[in-house]
Amino acid sequence: MNIDFVGRRQAVLARIRAAEQRFQRPSGAVRLLAVSKIQPTAAMIALAAAGQCCFGENYVQEALDKIAELAALRLEWHLIGPLQANKTRTVAENFAWVHSVDRLKIAERLNAQRPADLPPLNVCLQVNIDREPAKHGLDLGAVATVAQAVAELPHLRLRGLMAIPAPAADFAAQRRPLARLRELQESLNAAGLALDTLSMGMSDDLEAAIAEGATLVRIGTALFGPRA
Ligand SMILES: *Cc1c(COP(=O)(O)O)cnc(C)c1O
Repeated sequence: MNIDFVGRRQAVLARIRAAEQRFQRPSGAVRLLAVSKIQPTAAMIALAAAGQCCFGENYVQEALDKIAELAALRLEWHLIGPLQANKTRTVAENFAWVHSVDRLKIAERLNAQRPADLPPLNVCLQVNIDREPAKHGLDLGAVATVAQAVAELPHLRLRGLMAIPAPAADFAAQRRPLARLRELQESLNAAGLALDTLSMGMSDDLEAAIAEGATLVRIGTALFGPRA
């Protein structure tokens, strides 16, 4: 590979650290998830060699092939794409995190299918933060009830909320939906949950996400270059 993955990862980490400082977040408060959908495993191996341990995938079958191929690297695998009910077993068996839980039924299946010898599966609820009709994610008004129910499931660990906001024209407009997600998380914690993860921020809005409290940013293009 003649792409400088070390340099790209350093540049993304520098953006994260700069945003943490600028918005008074503790240093190291934000984790970098490398979004590797459609990217070849050679690029992922190079990024892993540069120190990257967490990878996010969108498509279950593509992810399973990569998990098998890269097993020796002991990477941490996060599912960030839509999850159909007929794929929950293999996801429960092979991933450490699922960011895209958008129905109680999916959570119940993951809970029932999580192998007993693995730690609880970390999950985030995906929220349709811009109320877009054709988008994945829970309606804002449904999140509290589903969160309380998911938090009771013993083989899952409800970590927080995830959103993919609609593209926005400027920094202030980027921040608005991300602030709504943070406020929703704060209200859930005020109601007794102990959520520690806000999964928000991609290559184009990671600074806005960190300003609004992201604890994990999901970065594809800025690490790997444009997807084919
Ligand atoms: C593809 C994808 C990303 C990464 O987006 P980039 O703009 O390439 O950084 C993040 N989150 C989700 C859910 C994605 O599908």
